[in-house]
Amino acid sequence: MSAQPASDCLSRHASDPTALTLLQAVAARRAQPWHEAALLAALNANLAHARTHSPHYRRTLAAHPQPLPHVAALARLPLTHKDDLRAAYPWGLCAVPAAQLARYAESTGTTGGVNAGFVTQRDWLLNHYSVALAWADVLGPQDRVAVAVPYELSYVGADVDRACELLGASVLPVSTNNAACSWRQLLGLLQSHRITTLVCAPLRALRLVLLAREMGLDVARDLAVRRIVCVGEALSAAKRQRIARDWQAQVYNHYGMTEALSVALPCAAGALHLAQERFVFELLDPQHERPLSGPGTGELVLTTLDQQALPLLRYRSGDLVRLSPTPCACGRWQATIELLGRVQDLCPTAHGPQHLSALDALLLEEPGIEDLFTTRAQDGQVHISVLPRPGQPWAPTRQRLDAAVAQHWGGPVQWQVQPRQDWLQRLDSRSKPASALLVQPPSPARSSP
Ligand SMILES: [Zn+2]
Repeated sequence: MSAQPASDCLSRHASDPTALTLLQAVAARRAQPWHEAALLAALNANLAHARTHSPHYRRTLAAHPQPLPHVAALARLPLTHKDDLRAAYPWGLCAVPAAQLARYAESTGTTGGVNAGFVTQRDWLLNHYSVALAWADVLGPQDRVAVAVPYELSYVGADVDRACELLGASVLPVSTNNAACSWRQLLGLLQSHRITTLVCAPLRALRLVLLAREMGLDVARDLAVRRIVCVGEALSAAKRQRIARDWQAQVYNHYGMTEALSVALPCAAGALHLAQERFVFELLDPQHERPLSGPGTGELVLTTLDQQALPLLRYRSGDLVRLSPTPCACGRWQATIELLGRVQDLCPTAHGPQHLSALDALLLEEPGIEDLFTTRAQDGQVHISVLPRPGQPWAPTRQRLDAAVAQHWGGPVQWQVQPRQDWLQRLDSRSKPASALLVQPPSPARSSP
């Protein structure tokens, strides 16, 4: 353990009075649950700001009386959809003058269209403090962190950077697909620089295991990485266990989006806590689009409480989450979720509706394929792209997979066998490995018979 606590580093970085006040405000909010009156006041202040300054909400909230009489009345307001953001691209939801903006990012969804994200300096700092206070349970000044997530037109790389700096950790900024540092070079750096923590997408962590083997390295034996923070893709329990086993590392999850920055944060117990100090969250029944009244599985809907540049009201994330009914062992008051993936990947099966992430366990158990599969629901069918292991014939592998799918999934799937080098090159050349591969339309020439 370090002699210098992470919290000391945080306070030192926030030595200017304005920043220190913000840090203390975030720390106080994270320490205990909202009182109803304080939450209602924050919510109404955000609503008033949005209706006054955001062109989109000036229009959509005009017919809705405010302030809200209680927090539950939020459910009477209209939902905000991704299409609203796309239609408003780039500035239609901006609620501050351009001169107050500190940073810009945008994202392209798997279904097309571009979402813009923008922050004031205060938005950016509030987010960093929220992230750093959460990560302080996991990281400290003794850590050397390789950040292998996108920096370009994105928040996530810089967001992780700042949190690590605030905690006194040293940062190796790698990004994803760039000419300066190939994935092979990254593995060399992980070894030579005794990197302790790797931040990357889950599929990237699995790909690096395979690439290391090709280089004669064993990631658990030859590297010092003992923590992996997975960002940018859903992380199923099965995938998490596989990454932890292969790397002999603790695996954490961190969930954010361009529109709202960091939304759910890891804790020392390995759970993923909603950032309820910065948002009000709701769950929407994915089939009937009605709010769920308690824990369960639904689409995550968020309302910002203190975002100046891009206030969001009842924003449908498009992500399916499972809300835990029990408190986390770490003692934090914020609820914990499991991020399952896209709502569109919830499928009807013989065992009832199941999310595609439920296939991860059976696919990871199959010895005939690499761990680098991708799954996608499209046009009413489930498509699974797989990469057979060298020397493993596809026919018996497929027989075993079909039997496992019939038993545990209960619906038909379309297998796609990928040409090895083409698949690996595509995986290595994209910023978001899973989504980059998923957007490839099924190719009849590559389909299995
Ligand atoms: Zn926890």
